[in-house]
Amino acid sequence: MHILVTGGAGYIGSHAVRLFLERGHEVWVYDNLVYGHRAAVPSERLIVGDLSETHRLDQILVEKRIDAVVHFAAYTYVGESVTNPAKYWHNNLVNTLSLMECLRRHGVARFVFSSTAATFGIPEKMPITEDTPQHPINPYGASKLAVEQALADYTHAYKWGFAALRYFNASGAYAGGTIGEDHTPETHLIPLIIQAAQGKRPHIEIFGTDYSTPDGTCIRDYIHVDDLAEAHLLALEKLQPGQQMHYNLGIGRGYSVREVISAVEAVTGKKVPVKEGPRRAGDPPVLVASFEKIQRALGWTPRYTDITAIIETAWNWHRTHPKGYRSK
Ligand code: UDP
Repeated sequence: MHILVTGGAGYIGSHAVRLFLERGHEVWVYDNLVYGHRAAVPSERLIVGDLSETHRLDQILVEKRIDAVVHFAAYTYVGESVTNPAKYWHNNLVNTLSLMECLRRHGVARFVFSSTAATFGIPEKMPITEDTPQHPINPYGASKLAVEQALADYTHAYKWGFAALRYFNASGAYAGGTIGEDHTPETHLIPLIIQAAQGKRPHIEIFGTDYSTPDGTCIRDYIHVDDLAEAHLLALEKLQPGQQMHYNLGIGRGYSVREVISAVEAVTGKKVPVKEGPRRAGDPPVLVASFEKIQRALGWTPRYTDITAIIETAWNWHRTHPKGYRSK
């Protein structure tokens, strides 16, 4: 397949790109490098550009004979989406709609969309299945859900094949050690704990210790980025015209913040200074995915099924890249 990967220089995108190339696909990365990293993808595969440059996208679709798009490009900071919703609605929805229109003009009808557990909001029942109602509680989740809905309409009317993959907590790094997680600012739990273990931060602050969970801290479902990447490829390969796929992607098991901290200590052999702080607004106590649907339909199953194995790959990346992609 000739695959265009938007946002392919980002954390999850770069892992997908590496896998698609390894499996022999013709891959082109389209990334504005606002959050992505030039060094995260092979330079000869990278096209630097913004989703708003539709004439360039038109040109690329023709020149590179693109027949499928995997769309990662988006802003992903939940807190920022609350304080600056315009930025999120514009980039995540308006720019995606304009990308979809380019694809429609050129008859590209295979689309895999990077969606999120944030489309579910605070569900009552765990684990979260594809039948769980989607009621996002922030503009980030709402913008992603709006795209899912637009894609469903395109699929119906224009015979697209599309997959919405709702990631839970993406984590870890490629075991080969060449790519990994590098966000500025970093807000995700595992890299923050690792940085505290490395002495780059004074401590890790636990956001809330009074939740109704066994140890009082929030529980999340951490899924390895390479398992996410594999799910994208399976979906791409199996999509048929007129078909919609909606899949939740997690490992089906949750870990509390305290459990993640202990696992980082075990993997790194370092004591992590901890500060107990108040809850972060909008954090549901527990989010765990059911992955039964994608397992049944596509045969996907996570290769990384426990937090220690995931953290080992993250630690390998952070240990060898103390400044992320600016290391060396
Ligand atoms: N968390 C925390 N301290 C931090 C960052 C995160 O206690 O400095 C908690 C957060 O409240 C959540 C979990 O760790 O329960 C995972 O947060 P993250 O931001 O990594 O992902 P999210 O679940 O928000 O997508």
